[in-house]
Amino acid sequence: MRENKQPKLYIVIPCYNEEKVLPITAPMFKKKIEDLIGAGKISGDSRVLFVNDGSKDATWEIIQSLAKADRCYSGVSLSRNRGHQNALLAGLMEAKEQCDITISIDCDGQDDINAMDAMVDEYLDGAEIVYGVRSKRQTDTFFKRFTAESFYKVMKWMGADTVFNHADYRLVSARALKEFANFKEVNIFLRGMFPLVGFKSTCVYYERAERIAGESHYPLSKMLALAFDGITSLSVKPIRIITGLGVGISVVAFLLIVYALIAYFTGNVVSGWASSLIATCFLGGIQLIALGVIGEYVGKIYMETKARPRFIIGERTDEEK
Ligand code: UDP
Ligand code: MG
Repeated sequence: MRENKQPKLYIVIPCYNEEKVLPITAPMFKKKIEDLIGAGKISGDSRVLFVNDGSKDATWEIIQSLAKADRCYSGVSLSRNRGHQNALLAGLMEAKEQCDITISIDCDGQDDINAMDAMVDEYLDGAEIVYGVRSKRQTDTFFKRFTAESFYKVMKWMGADTVFNHADYRLVSARALKEFANFKEVNIFLRGMFPLVGFKSTCVYYERAERIAGESHYPLSKMLALAFDGITSLSVKPIRIITGLGVGISVVAFLLIVYALIAYFTGNVVSGWASSLIATCFLGGIQLIALGVIGEYVGKIYMETKARPRFIIGERTDEEK
């Protein structure tokens, strides 16, 4: 148990083109904060922090007017769209200086905000990171459920171990975030990186609902891109699999050479044409895949050595006051 001080909570919410949902969900987040304050679990100056990820619609204007009307809301706006992970990181880095705990959540109302009570309880019990885990996926279509669950399985098999069925709904203490700030990489996959920070952590289970309004920004193509980024930023297992394949194929190639030699000495030279053609094509294909995967890692190294800023904040609602 922690000493008897109520932590200051920031709910951090990345928003990209969410003008349809924001007016509905913003009051829900505020109410949750008020309930938690009422229950004596968090301090009275807890707030909601929106991160506008370069939206093209009225999202930032909505955030600004929310912040103007109510001190409970605040917002930062990125200079352009950088994607969900970078937007969330920007919000967490902003919040860590101002609060004791953060809870990150999407703004579409899919994640059950009532799980926040249990998250805060776990923090009060000593956990520094609390992962929100989906207990069921009943509201998803079969296709979404199948692709999403395969995502976690393939990730795990490829050496990028993440908490199963945990997305980016989690409580992280400012203490853990300050350590996390030392992870300087630009290819970020937050749900795979937070377990690397360590400290006491635990899970809270909840059911995920359907989006209240608007559309998902994670179609299959983006999910595949996220999985690929997750694997290559957390693990070198694909390279090792390729090395293994290379060894296996070399053994087969060696046997083929022995076969070719025997054929040569027994005078059957022309009959080897088909098998050598197959072997050449096969090796050519495998080599291209291998080069591609290695190229992917070289590309990542290239991006990392440039060490460009991961996000740039263009505006803050707090500065206007
Ligand atoms: N998001 C963002 N930048 C982007 C895409 C999405 O900040 O480029 C935010 C979005 O506003 C939402 C969250 O990330 O709050 C998750 O996106 P979405 O709900 O579309 O994904 P899904 O829940 O369908 O996986
Ligand atoms: Mg969503």
